[in-house]
Amino acid sequence: MKTYENIPTILTFNGVPVKARRGFWLVVALVWVILTAIGTWRWPGQSVLAYVLVGGVGTLVGMMVDVGHACAHTIGAKMAHAPTAVVLLGADMPRTLYPDEKMRPSQHIARSLGGPIYSWIGFGIGLLLLRVIPPQTAWRYLAEIWTFGNAFIGLAIFAPVPLVDGGVIIKWLLVIGGQDEGQADRIVHWMDIVLIVMLLIGAGVTALSDLWVAAVGLVLVAILIGLIVLEVIR
Ligand SMILES: [Zn+2]
Repeated sequence: MKTYENIPTILTFNGVPVKARRGFWLVVALVWVILTAIGTWRWPGQSVLAYVLVGGVGTLVGMMVDVGHACAHTIGAKMAHAPTAVVLLGADMPRTLYPDEKMRPSQHIARSLGGPIYSWIGFGIGLLLLRVIPPQTAWRYLAEIWTFGNAFIGLAIFAPVPLVDGGVIIKWLLVIGGQDEGQADRIVHWMDIVLIVMLLIGAGVTALSDLWVAAVGLVLVAILIGLIVLEVIR
């Protein structure tokens, strides 16, 4: 197991170092620009400085959604007496890495549940905030970032994909149900192939309806899942 010694630690959560590769800061900068731009639409009539500042706070909120999910996995792990090595941030999704993969199925599931529970609770809190905060204000925009971010992650983790929580939970539920690990991996891979085919059919249907942005998005998600199944992305 690599120690990731050369990657700077930006904070320690639950006794686990949270480390950020350089690519992470590029994404932070990009998210800041995007959230500054979206702010001009969600919260009209303000100064450029106000958009940049609230975009910056919005970026922090986005990190609380994304990095918070990864950190919450360490809570699930600790409750299951399973150690966590590092939370690794990079240009793509955060990874919660464990020093020991020889765990009981229930421990694998507990580790994988920490993040989703955080995202689902976060989404619930977000819905409450959206009910009480008036629209077209900075607070409302920040609450929208929080709620949308948690909703997106809270949904995405249902995908039965090996790198994603849903894939890990399904695999180990299959093992509890009597499959051996190899069989469980193969079943998850078949689910992924079905998912890819469904996404491509969806892309075809949306393209025929002239919804090109949706079609391209679905094809990109299908390619992403394909790359994870082929272990190009790991
Ligand atoms: Zn997760």
